[in-house]
Amino acid sequence: MSRRSDLVAAWLEPRAEEMVRFLARLVAEPTENPPGAGLGHCAGLLAAEMRRLGLEAELVEITGPHSLEGPAIVRGSAGDGQKLLYFHGHYDVVPVQDRGQFTLRREGGRLIGRGTADMKGGIVSMLYGAAAAQELGLIGDGRIVIHLVPDEETGSVVGAGHLREHHLIDPSAVAMVTGEPSGTGIWNASRGAISLRVGFEGQEAHVGQASFGTNAFAHMVHVARPLLAYAEEMARRPTRHTTAPGDPAGSMIVVGGMCGGGSNFNVVPADAWFTVDGRFNPEEDLHSELERMQTLIRDAAAEVGAKVTIEVTQLQPPAGTRADHPAGATLARCVEEVRGESARFEMCGGILENRWYDQLGIPAFAYGAGRLDVSHGPHEYVDEQELFRTAAVYALYAADLLV
Ligand SMILES: [Zn+2]
Repeated sequence: MSRRSDLVAAWLEPRAEEMVRFLARLVAEPTENPPGAGLGHCAGLLAAEMRRLGLEAELVEITGPHSLEGPAIVRGSAGDGQKLLYFHGHYDVVPVQDRGQFTLRREGGRLIGRGTADMKGGIVSMLYGAAAAQELGLIGDGRIVIHLVPDEETGSVVGAGHLREHHLIDPSAVAMVTGEPSGTGIWNASRGAISLRVGFEGQEAHVGQASFGTNAFAHMVHVARPLLAYAEEMARRPTRHTTAPGDPAGSMIVVGGMCGGGSNFNVVPADAWFTVDGRFNPEEDLHSELERMQTLIRDAAAEVGAKVTIEVTQLQPPAGTRADHPAGATLARCVEEVRGESARFEMCGGILENRWYDQLGIPAFAYGAGRLDVSHGPHEYVDEQELFRTAAVYALYAADLLV
C-alpha cells in the first residue's frame, strides 16, 4: 500500500462506526419518491452533517412547478481552488416494500435497508471521502463540489435540471463521479430514455348494441403490434459499449408496461391507453427514434381510423465518456489501489445523472458500493467494508485529479 492510501485508511478507520450511524439516520429519513416526501428534512440533515465534517454546505431551494415536498439541492464543497471535481448523488429513494426498510439492520457484514445501496450509502462514502481528502491536505488548491439532488428516482429534472438551468455546473470541471451502485465496475456510459403514453378515443355502446360503438381497445391492439415489432428490432441493434455480463446489448423497450381503459365488461370501451418505455443505447439518436415511434403509431392508427394521442412523458439523453479517457483510467487506478483488483468499464442499463455533466463535455462516471440488482428490492443492502473502501476511492480520486 502506498503511504497515501495508508493515510486515507487511517483517517477513515476510527470513523467507521460514525459512518454506519450516519447511514442509519439517512435510511430513517422516509424520502420515498414517488411521491417525493420529507425531502426538505433530509436535505437539512445532510447539510448539517457536511458542516460537522468541515465541508462548506448550502441548501439551494427549488421553486417552480413540481409536486415534491420541500426539495432542495444540497451543495457542498471542500477546498476553494480553480481545479474542480464534482461528486454527485441523490437522496430520494424508491418506495419501500415494507416500512421496516426505514430501520437499518446490520447482519453478517451487511447494512440492510432502503437506500443503503441506491444511494444513501454512496452519499456517506462521498462525504467522508471528501472530508478525508480535505483534512489530509490531499486536494492541494483544487476543489470538490458535492451536489445532492432530491428527485433522481423520478427523472431528476427538478434537481439536476435546476443545476443545469441556473448554470451551476461548471463545464471546465475535470470530472464528475456519482456513487450509484455500480458493483465492482465503473459505469462510463448509460442509456437514454423515451417514455410515451398512447391514448385512444372510441365510442361507448352497450354490448347488446356493440356494433354502434367504436372499440378503443381494438384500436390499441392494432397500434401496439408494430411497436412490439419495433421493440424486437431495437433489441437486436447492439452497442459498442461493454455491458455487464449477461446484460442485453440492444436497446430495451417495454410496450404495455401499463395499460387500461373502458368503463365496464359489458360496454364497448370509449377509451384505452398504454405506455411505452424505452432505454436506448448511446449510439441511437433519440429524436429520430421518437419520430419513428410516433410515425408507427400514427400510420397504424390511420389504417383503422383510430383517434390517437401521444404524450411524451420522458425524454432523457444517454451519456457516454470514452472508456479510455484519462479521468476514467485514474478512477480505475484508485479502485485498484484500494480493492487490489482492477475495475471493468461498463455501460449502465438504465439512465444515469452522468448525462447532465456529459452534456457539458465533462467526463462522467458512476462508481459506488452496492449492487444494482438488489437496489430497488425488499433486501437492499450494502457491504460495510465496501462503504469504507468506496470512501477511500473517492478521497484518492480527488487527490489524483486535483493536485
Ligand atoms: Zn440511484
